[in-house]
Amino acid sequence: MSLWYPTIYRRRIEEVTPDTLRGIGARAVLLDIDNTLTVHDAPEVSDEVVAWLDNMRVAGFSLMLVSNNCAERVAPFAARLGLPYQAHAKKPLPVGFRRAARAMGLPRRRCVVIGDQIFTDILGANLSGMPSVLLEPIEPEKDQRFIVFKRRIERWMLDCPRELKRKEMDYGEYGIFWPGG
Ligand SMILES: [Mg+2]
Repeated sequence: MSLWYPTIYRRRIEEVTPDTLRGIGARAVLLDIDNTLTVHDAPEVSDEVVAWLDNMRVAGFSLMLVSNNCAERVAPFAARLGLPYQAHAKKPLPVGFRRAARAMGLPRRRCVVIGDQIFTDILGANLSGMPSVLLEPIEPEKDQRFIVFKRRIERWMLDCPRELKRKEMDYGEYGIFWPGG
């Protein structure tokens, strides 16, 4: 089951601190876009997310956007934030994450994946040998039926009490840490 679980769980990206990421050995951050940094297909991010990105840069982390969305969506978004990107990343296949690690010149275990979906971001990170942070989606999906379906399974997985009891460890104020994830 460990392929399906993140290293760390947080509700919002603003709750992910440089110390937390250093604690799991990360030196670079591979960021999902939709429902991680902003809502689906929105061109802007909130002031809080801009401040978080700046704080990560100041703390010395390399940042890259890794999205399954098309270049037409990802490129202008990345340009606005001044970030490098991988579009059409094919998550959960490891190809996009591995390409990102190579582009940053870092071993994969030094690149932490941050995203909102178990079946793309977290599974992809685990298949790539990268630590990961699962966030709650910023906004529940209504129209994308496949994502709504996946959310129901994700909810069941995260609420599954027996699995949590076996794996749960304290990790910060809000987080849950799944060892071996
Ligand atoms: Mg997403």
